[in-house]
Amino acid sequence: MNSRTAAKRTAMNNRSAEGSEGRKIGIMGGTFDPIHYGHLLAADEAHAAFGLSEVVFIPSGRPPHKANKRVTSPEDRYLMTELATVDCPYFRVSRVEIDRQGNSYTIDTLRALRAMPEYDGAQFYFITGLDAVLDIVSWKNPEEIMAMCRFVAVSRYGYSPKKMEELPEGLRTKIIPLEIPLLAISSTELRERAKSGRSIRFMVPPAVEKFIRKKSLYRNYTEE
Ligand code: ATP
Ligand code: MG
Repeated sequence: MNSRTAAKRTAMNNRSAEGSEGRKIGIMGGTFDPIHYGHLLAADEAHAAFGLSEVVFIPSGRPPHKANKRVTSPEDRYLMTELATVDCPYFRVSRVEIDRQGNSYTIDTLRALRAMPEYDGAQFYFITGLDAVLDIVSWKNPEEIMAMCRFVAVSRYGYSPKKMEELPEGLRTKIIPLEIPLLAISSTELRERAKSGRSIRFMVPPAVEKFIRKKSLYRNYTEE
């Protein structure tokens, strides 16, 4: 059984175990600097595989793992996320992280969502790429995160699922792998392309491309 079939089967089992009570809500966190089709595809594949009612995109306020790097303003990243998702009826964007002071920790975000009446009784599916999942031991309270949501790891170009074997068993066994078509797109490459005037067309939604151009977002981009 490949991982996609396994994920589908898990999704079906979960559905029957839960009955009709509790909506399934996908959570797609990211810096989204800028948001691109890799993010959108990951969210859409998880939506289909797990029967999610919606996927909430959560642009990070201050990503702790990017503390030494230059990151575009939260408002511009938020706006790009809105522009990218506006056409999809089951995608929404949350300001929960960008309106919060200090570092953006996933555990704090999950607790904040859990406390919202609109998500009362909902089952959360936290969606990340395989690269991010391999880093999970460095996150704040990973065990508690895993206890609060189903944790989905979508395939990402350049990262082997075999690497997951290196994770502590207690975390690894809770991760649900989901194989998706590989799009070798990263925000890092998009920033480099935008800076040097190369095309980012067909890698980001047209409105995001126009926004980047209009605001000259990455013209003077440097990593540090
Ligand atoms: P950067 O290069 O700046 O790190 P990124 O492209 O990795 O940007 P992030 O905002 O860091 O984008 O990623 C948010 C989430 O989306 C992470 O869980 C990441 O693994 C996932 N993700 C990003 N790009 C892809 C892609 N092409 N395919 C699948 N998942 C992706
Ligand atoms: Mg990244």
